[in-house]
Amino acid sequence: MISRIDLRGSLPDDLRSVLPRAELDVEAALEKVRPICDDVRHRGAEAVRDYTARFDGIEVESLRVPEAAIGRALEELDPAVRDALEECVRRTRVVHRAQRRTDVTTQVVPGGTVTERWVPVERVGLYVPGGQAVYPSSVVMNVVPAQEAGVESLAVTSPAQQEFGGLPHPTILATCALLGVDEVYAAGGAQAIAMFAYGTEECRRADMVTGPGNIWVAAAKRLLKGVIGIDSEAGPTEVAVLADATADPVHVAADLISQAEHDTLAAAVLVTDSEELAAAVERELTEQVTRTKHTERITAALAGRQSGIVLVDDVDAGLKVVDAYAAEHLEIQTADARTVASRVRNAGAIFVGPHAPVSLGDYMAGSNHVLPTGGCACHSSGLSVQTFLRGIHVVDYDEAALADVTGRVVTLAEAEDLPAHGAAMKARFDWGIPE
Ligand code: NAD
Repeated sequence: MISRIDLRGSLPDDLRSVLPRAELDVEAALEKVRPICDDVRHRGAEAVRDYTARFDGIEVESLRVPEAAIGRALEELDPAVRDALEECVRRTRVVHRAQRRTDVTTQVVPGGTVTERWVPVERVGLYVPGGQAVYPSSVVMNVVPAQEAGVESLAVTSPAQQEFGGLPHPTILATCALLGVDEVYAAGGAQAIAMFAYGTEECRRADMVTGPGNIWVAAAKRLLKGVIGIDSEAGPTEVAVLADATADPVHVAADLISQAEHDTLAAAVLVTDSEELAAAVERELTEQVTRTKHTERITAALAGRQSGIVLVDDVDAGLKVVDAYAAEHLEIQTADARTVASRVRNAGAIFVGPHAPVSLGDYMAGSNHVLPTGGCACHSSGLSVQTFLRGIHVVDYDEAALADVTGRVVTLAEAEDLPAHGAAMKARFDWGIPE
């Protein structure tokens, strides 16, 4: 069901190339999404509706979800789901509120200051997936940090569902209502990203689009980056578990399965120095998969080349492997898990010890679940308040402070053969350099 990669002995120099990774060719998908995005740019909402009919199998008259439908979804929401969502919002808000930035003014010299002013993006489009599974939790993970950052205009989009007459899933609508979001669209895939990037008759263009999605969503974000701001590429989900002989194979297998449940392209990777644990996890996977609901999807994900069990000599070697892999989610299930976790450099989020399964982070830890995938965790972070803020440097010098530095600016400008730069300084002092 799941392949093994034996890296005992010595680790190869180019570790990344031997590790399991999705055959996710976002570059190839770019060629498929380019015409979709161009079409939305030229034909607007009509094109979005056409792709909705083609890919989601439903003809919709209007992409904008009526406010009454959003309110009704909340009224009809199962009280237990509402209670769980409210707790998810509360915990996520506590963590993200603590991420707010304050402006910092630095006195560089007497009379010369630079202030870093944190300003939220004005309008954001938030993508909430809804193909193979629906993600009301992703509404929370997108909306809460944007709200805490102070974003004024928020629009959510999620694929139109045949089963619900072309509206997004009712739980997604209810979560929007819970969070006070009333601008919601029934659109998914690349066409939804293009809708935010270019704007349509129905939807004003956004400055930024965030949120996870499948390969088409990731490709459209990569293609349109620049036309619109994006967060990191948060594609098909990944979990890596670094475990030693002290780990419980039942828990490890359950956690691998929980992420494989997202997508046939989801990745589940165990890195261990224990042959016994590896064998026990293999047995558990076989057993547990038969008892779960989405057996087919999970089996495909576990059998795919993106998943595997990596055998290493010891926890130190395991740390090198997980750093090279840079997992979206990394669990540490070893002895002294906190110390081991503190040595990790690359991961979207780290789950420490036996009582922090990745499912907790998907819903209720308070941390964000929109995280970088495909190895992007070595240079990018998950969604946070910071994602929605721009730091603007405000430069404020008085005459004396400017006079004091004019000579040096002129010197550097001349060294760069840009004399007009120096001249712009000297113009303030009758075209000379003040004494
Ligand atoms: P989705 O909403 O991302 O994609 C569905 C849309 O894809 C459809 O609306 C359709 O328009 C489009 N589409 C389908 N087939 C297409 C085709 N052949 N060509 C062009 N477009 C097509 O929902 P999904 O498919 O369920 O994927 C959700 C993904 O999000 C999963 O891979 C999951 O692992 C991932 N996810 C990631 C994170 C993260 O933080 N990294 C968090 C949650 C979910």
